[in-house]
Amino acid sequence: MLTIDLRRLKEAGVRIEGVVAAEDALWTGADVEFLCPFWVDVTAHSTGEHSVMVRGRMGARVRGYCRRCLTPLDLEIDDAVDLFFEPLERPDDEDLNVYHVSPLATDLDLGKPLREQFLLAIPSFPLCREECRGLCAGCGADLNVEPCRCLERAGDPRWAPLRALDDRS
Ligand SMILES: [Zn+2]
Ligand SMILES: [Zn+2]
Repeated sequence: MLTIDLRRLKEAGVRIEGVVAAEDALWTGADVEFLCPFWVDVTAHSTGEHSVMVRGRMGARVRGYCRRCLTPLDLEIDDAVDLFFEPLERPDDEDLNVYHVSPLATDLDLGKPLREQFLLAIPSFPLCREECRGLCAGCGADLNVEPCRCLERAGDPRWAPLRALDDRS
C-alpha cells in the first residue's frame, strides 16, 4: 500500500491514501498504543532525475500519559508529511526528512520513512492540561484533586512508629 512505482511518477504525481492497522508489521517494536489506525494521504512528485518529493498529511489517535499526573490521554496526531528522496548519499546530511533512494530502484517504499516521521510526531511529554499540578513526589497525592499529605503525615503522632522504622532503614 505504501509503495510507489517510480516509473509512474514520470508522467504525473502519484497519490497514496489509506490506513495501516495497529497490528501491521510496520509497527513492530514501536511502543505505540493505537486508539484508531494510522492514516496517510500523500502525493509523490518527481523533482528531477531519481529525486522524489512526498507531501501530504498523516495521523492517528494514540494513547499517552500525562507526564505530571500519569492520567491516560487520547493524543490526536495530525501532522504534515514532507519527505525528500535523493539518489545521492549525503552522510553529513542533518535533514531528518531527506532519505536515500537508489538510482536503480523501480519502487519506493514509504513505510519506514513514514513510521519514523510518525513516531517523531508523537509528543514525548504530553500534559493533561497546561496547569496540571501533578503527583506529590512525597506522598503520591494527585494534587489536582487532593491536598498533599506530607505535612499531615509528618505531624500525626500515629505515624511516629512508622517514621521510626523509616529512620532505621
Ligand atoms: Zn496531568
Ligand atoms: Zn505530599
